[in-house]
Amino acid sequence: MALKSQFNGDLVDREQPCTICREKTGRQIGIVDYWDIKTSNVVLCEKCRHIQLDPMLNGGETAKGCLAYYIEEFLRTSREEQFKNCERNFRRGVVFGYQLKLKQIFPRSVLELGPGSGYFAAGLQFAFPGIGITVMDINPEVLNFNHEQHGFETIRENPDNFTGSFENRFDLVIARDILEHVNDISKVVENVHAYMKPNGLFHFITPNGREDIWKHYLSLKFGNAPSELLINHVNYFDGKGLKNLLTQKGFSAVDYHTYTFKTTLRGLGWKESKALMSPASRKTQADLFIQEKAGELKRVEFNKEKILDKWYIRPGARWITGLYSLVHHFSMLRLSPERNIGHEIYGLYKKSGSKKIINHDVPSADRPL
Ligand SMILES: [Zn+2]
Repeated sequence: MALKSQFNGDLVDREQPCTICREKTGRQIGIVDYWDIKTSNVVLCEKCRHIQLDPMLNGGETAKGCLAYYIEEFLRTSREEQFKNCERNFRRGVVFGYQLKLKQIFPRSVLELGPGSGYFAAGLQFAFPGIGITVMDINPEVLNFNHEQHGFETIRENPDNFTGSFENRFDLVIARDILEHVNDISKVVENVHAYMKPNGLFHFITPNGREDIWKHYLSLKFGNAPSELLINHVNYFDGKGLKNLLTQKGFSAVDYHTYTFKTTLRGLGWKESKALMSPASRKTQADLFIQEKAGELKRVEFNKEKILDKWYIRPGARWITGLYSLVHHFSMLRLSPERNIGHEIYGLYKKSGSKKIINHDVPSADRPL
């Protein structure tokens, strides 16, 4: 069971080479507007199968779009739903922690890139009391929130940029729903590798690129018009291509699978239906949006004690918390990401081999794989 490549598109010269393999041409399979910030082609690399925006966003564009999207999502989600999301992420962190314990892995220092509410890491901390957690984000609101709610150490930085003081420091690096947002995936993976101690672990989840780009692909195919990239994904991973990249950068897979298949059943990734097309672009004005809406952010009070005041969350009987969380978040059906079927890719990779020497004076774009 595997879907053959069903993407058709013109072979085009790219404005920027592929950030994984440096290929200079690719199949154009979409055109997207990122708010009113930028219009880019979506290009499928024939060599490494990576799909990404061309041209890619620069740091300032990413920061602006991320802030606009953060506000948009925050305001779109009801207060109750936000609290529930915190609780769900806490449970996922608990499950992840207990799965590590079952593997006899006991991390002490953790770095999370793009922590969101921080409740996943809080759940992990519940499973491993005393664990040290540092979070990295470019949005100061996110960092303040994480510090105030959970007392995590924070660093305001873009994961694309190398932070020298983090070298060899962490047992575990987490990037949940982050890799699809970064400008230069090769550089980010190299940085993560450098931040990890020998035998350290890298955990991520990221959407299956084929399904994730499908609506935009249909918009170009049927509508021949730009679609709006309101959810700011700039990378769309091929299951095999992502594994190859990680292997080339010095990682080996511990657990790599795809889970959740509702979207697949709806037709994403395979069904050529106009009903699945992405809405046409409205070029929403990011600056204006941020200016008008940013003030509304502070109105929701997050009371951590209240959010986690649940019968099954018991510091005195952590196994109950673990079991309850596992029942809620364990996915029975798992497929190899190399099939490119399913909504989400789960990765747990180990730093393997000798420490790689990275020359940070040379932009990663110009470095060989
Ligand atoms: Zn490529």
